[in-house]
This record gives sequence, structure tokens and C-alpha cells, in this order.
Amino acid sequence: MSAGTWVDAFVGLGANLGNAQEAVCAAVAAIGALDGVRLLGQSPLYGSAPVDAGGGDYVNAVVRVQTRLPALTLLHALREIEAQAGRERPFRNAPRTLDLDLLLYGDQRIQTEELTVPHPRMAQRAFVLRPLADIAPGRVPQSQLDAVAHQSVWSLDPRP
Ligand code: ADP
Ligand code: MG
Repeated sequence: MSAGTWVDAFVGLGANLGNAQEAVCAAVAAIGALDGVRLLGQSPLYGSAPVDAGGGDYVNAVVRVQTRLPALTLLHALREIEAQAGRERPFRNAPRTLDLDLLLYGDQRIQTEELTVPHPRMAQRAFVLRPLADIAPGRVPQSQLDAVAHQSVWSLDPRP
């Protein structure tokens, strides 16, 4: 990628340990503060029941950014923010203080050992698709939303 090229990307956020809402909001700010990243939009907050995992309910959101970081560099920066939030990985799908997933990176398809984009499980997850559809309806087919409509996801937005 040539210098000065900015790519539209979407990051999914989730947390279900400690003050999850605070962790998600702090992570949004941390993403926006990264060098080479501009925050373009943020979905409302959602709550969701854990899928294939134990622990309490999740707080979820999706942010839209513009970035001139290569996708893998962005992933590493996200992992650093997870680590600063105290993320540990004791076992697969363990409760987490913060999970940041790179959902979409422009229109690129990336398949490496470390990174798959679009995120391989996003199409099966209402807690990703609902907030993503709020800020980027054109990126979420209605058929995908319909397919996950039975999943337990609710708005945490206090507005009526
Ligand atoms: P989860 O699938 O529950 O989010 P982790 O956050 O522990 O699990 O991530 C597991 C692995 O997924 C990481 O080591 C990371 O390299 C890899 N991975 C592959 N594609 C992506 C992506 N698009 N976004 C984030 N992590 C990804
Ligand atoms: Mg993750």
C-alpha cells in the first residue's frame, strides 16, 4: 500500500468481565488515539448473551475507522490495546476484559495464519451484525441479519 492511502475498516468490540461498558468505551478512545487511525463512527452499545462461552453478558459495539496502517499492523495495535485492558487468554472463548476483532478492511480478503478478513465468524454473530448494520447498512445483507435474528442481543442505548 502506498503512503497516504487511507482504508475504511471496521472493528468489533466486546467485553464481559469487570466494568465491560467502561472497557468498551475506553477502547473506542484508544483506537481513535492510534497513530494512523481516524475514528469515523461508533455504533450504539449492545448487550448479548455469551455464545459457546461461559461468563456474564457481553457489551458489544462496532467502530468505523479510516486507517493508513496495514491490516496486520492494525491487528497488532488492537492486540496491544487488549493487553493494556488486562486481557488474558486462559482458554478458548474464556470471559474477557476486552476483545477487539478486525471485521472488515476495505474490500480486502486476507487469509494468513494470524489474520482472516472479513472476520470468519462475523456473519454468524448478531452482536457483530446488528451494530455493524447501524453504522454501515450497506455492508450487512438483510439475509444475514434475518439468519441471526433469534440470537439474544439487546440495545443498551438509554435513548427511547
Ligand atoms: P476470538 O475468536 O474469541 O476473538 P481471540 O481474540 O483470542 O479469539 O483471537 C484468536 C486469534 O484470532 C488471534 O490470535 C488472531 O491472530 C486471530 N485472528 C484471525 N483473524 C482475526 C481478525 N480478523 N480479527 C482479530 N483476530 C483475528
Ligand atoms: Mg478476538
